[in-house]
Amino acid sequence: MKCREGWLDNVRRVVSPNVNERPEGEVSAVVLHSISLPPGQFGGDYIERLFTNQLDPQAHPYFTSIAGLEVSAHVLVRRDGECVQFAPFEARAWHAGRSHWHDGHTLRRELNDFAVGVELEGDEVTPYTAAQYRSLAAVLHALFDAYPAINPARITSHARVAPLRKTDPGPAFDWAYLRHCMCQCTDS
Ligand SMILES: [Zn+2]
Repeated sequence: MKCREGWLDNVRRVVSPNVNERPEGEVSAVVLHSISLPPGQFGGDYIERLFTNQLDPQAHPYFTSIAGLEVSAHVLVRRDGECVQFAPFEARAWHAGRSHWHDGHTLRRELNDFAVGVELEGDEVTPYTAAQYRSLAAVLHALFDAYPAINPARITSHARVAPLRKTDPGPAFDWAYLRHCMCQCTDS
């Protein structure tokens, strides 16, 4: 997998309007998330609808609470490993919300300003699929190649950058297995 001009090659694009400019143009970290819509259910196009402001609040009782949210991520990795990209990496997607991170000696806020947001389709407690780890590893390698400021130490999670509000991608996410897949990934 390669990244060209902010987009992953051969990845389906669903353009989200929920983006703006990165204030410094910096692309230097990755925030991992999880999402499932409705919660605990996989498949369907509800996540894509949410990120494009096309979620029908009547389609499920839960959706009335989120239908007005304007949110996005750069990439969604679905259960079968398919990736969907919603915004070029140079754009600021809206995934981390209020957040902070110790970056060397500096406490930084607003990770959306400089981070890439990657959503895994999941519910935090169900194991993520091997296909998802393989695809995520390929996405991360493509990002390392395209954005030298991103490296393995600059991959974090929503739970870590917004600890009082968020828990995703949750205990089901196996960081050791991700590292294993990243070593296996030979960037085909
Ligand atoms: Zn999240």
